[in-house]
Amino acid sequence: MEFDYVIVGGGSAGCALAARLAENREARVCLIEAGGKGRNLFIRMPAGNGLVFGNAKLDWGFESVPQPALNDRKIYFPRGRALGGSSIMNGMIYIRGVPQDYDAWRESGLSGWGFSDLLPYFRRSQGAVDRKGVWHGVDGPVKTEASVNFGELEEAFIEAAVACGHQRLDDFNGLHRAGVGRTDSTVHRGIRQSSAISYLAKRPSNLKILTHRQAVRVILEGGVAKGIETLGKEKIYAREEVILCQGAFGTPQTLMLSGIGPAAHLSQHGINAVVDLPGVGQSLADHVDVSMQYGSDRMDLSLARHQRLDRAAWLMARWLFNGSGPGGGAFFSSVIFHGLNDPVMPEFETFMTPMTVHENMTDGDVEKAPLMQRLGRHLLVRGRQVAKPGVQIDINLERPKSLGTVCLASANPLDHPRIDPRFFSHTDDLNAMVAGVKTMREIMAQPEIAKYVTGEIGAWQRAKTDAQIIEAIRQTAYTGHHPCSSAKMGPDKDPLAVLDSELRVRGVDKLRVCDASAMPSQITGNLNATVIAMAERGADLILGKTPLVPADPRI
Ligand SMILES: Cc1cc2nc3c(=O)[nH]c(=O)nc-3n(C[C@H](O)[C@H](O)[C@H](O)COP(=O)(O)OP(=O)(O)OC[C@H]3O[C@@H](n4cnc5c(N)ncnc54)[C@H](O)[C@@H]3O)c2cc1C
Repeated sequence: MEFDYVIVGGGSAGCALAARLAENREARVCLIEAGGKGRNLFIRMPAGNGLVFGNAKLDWGFESVPQPALNDRKIYFPRGRALGGSSIMNGMIYIRGVPQDYDAWRESGLSGWGFSDLLPYFRRSQGAVDRKGVWHGVDGPVKTEASVNFGELEEAFIEAAVACGHQRLDDFNGLHRAGVGRTDSTVHRGIRQSSAISYLAKRPSNLKILTHRQAVRVILEGGVAKGIETLGKEKIYAREEVILCQGAFGTPQTLMLSGIGPAAHLSQHGINAVVDLPGVGQSLADHVDVSMQYGSDRMDLSLARHQRLDRAAWLMARWLFNGSGPGGGAFFSSVIFHGLNDPVMPEFETFMTPMTVHENMTDGDVEKAPLMQRLGRHLLVRGRQVAKPGVQIDINLERPKSLGTVCLASANPLDHPRIDPRFFSHTDDLNAMVAGVKTMREIMAQPEIAKYVTGEIGAWQRAKTDAQIIEAIRQTAYTGHHPCSSAKMGPDKDPLAVLDSELRVRGVDKLRVCDASAMPSQITGNLNATVIAMAERGADLILGKTPLVPADPRI
């Protein structure tokens, strides 16, 4: 099989890129995806992602190596495996980075990646239903709406934060970022806007989509990418370019399996280095997330109430009828960004959820739950997640100094890569997180929210001194689900740069990377919108189009 462009990985970036490249009607484009079509009912239903998590058909289910700073716990990294990629299971929060994140990319020498360069691409991708103005797009394929699951507890949380002096924000993607408010989500009329649903609802005739095809290596001849080989030994050739969009773990793995990466590491696995590129798999950045939980006896206000069989069935029925009700909305709708020093670059993004979630099937509490609850839980989340009334506060450190690695565990493409996020390996991150916890405690102590909760539970109950807070952090921290930069773009002077400023793999012709792994560094916000905007811009670069005219509403 031969095409002009071969895209590997139909995730957030891959679907957007495929759709935009195929707008050139002359081009023959192929999109290869390891998983299926991503049309499952529980992908479309925003509240259905409990059935996607841990489902081997839809979730790669990666796991980190033991994390010394987290009491040697291994951290589960869910990642979507179907058309739509991780946007089939993400929290659907639509928040970009702050302009200064992208300006720092441009100032590092990556021309074309500043905020003013990217804003037109954010706008081109976004189809905001209830927003307009210079910061937003209204005609784009990724539909966004105000989060629908917003109730009394969320409002109480916002009022408590305001009582502590935080600014109430109407729009996290506008001029100001530090503050508290209700989020927008990538949901439209009760349907999750995965990248596949947004961009590939109608498949253009010049786009071939091959699902259930796992790429194992790039076919290289004389330093030129010629195509892709799959697990089934199929060879798919590209006349123009191969573009890897496999995400922060898949892309560095395929590069290394193809002989592109740190030579010494590759030779340990019997792979000849075609290009010795030391940065492949380095610079892995994530948002480390610390989860604080508060108990409550207000089941009536908690999303946990929907886990009872009759309510779960009603939630499903309403959603199936017309996409309405709690099934048609994201669970996260209240967020606060707060900074220690600079309000323009807040260190923390904290999500408030009106329930506490335990993800442990062996938890004795599961057995004690009433029958209706257990059955409802099976209907909604395959019994895996035990939701209880309460408030969960997930504090994410936005630009951690601790960076990790993605290495090969073996030369076998079926083995997952060895993922080491090295959470809290830099002590500044731990100290910052202690400050973040204290800020959230101050908010949760305000009468506006305190009247709804019975107090901290789990590891947090005993955490009074800084040393005890650090111990609670070690027990509760996990991934904020935003790994990136493991095959990063960087200027010539950066020895760990894998890509140049046009997403081209250094040292190889006709090979690009376009996904979260290409991000030069972590951003202050959620990743999906940024990854998609990068794909929008990447498509213009690949097609040799004049970039969209820069725009910056700050000026
Ligand atoms: C649980 C969770 C919650 C999140 N919440 C939010 C949120 O609320 N808001 C937000 O903005 N962001 C969120 N994110 C992050 C965001 O969804 C991701 O950063 C983004 O989807 C990454 O896009 P990507 O294109 O880099 O990779 P992905 O979307 O993961 O796509 C990679 C694709 O490549 C495919 N692939 C991998 N290897 C191969 C191979 N060898 N052959 C063929 N195909 C392959 C995969 O199956 C997948 O389809 C969340 C992520 C997760 C996992």
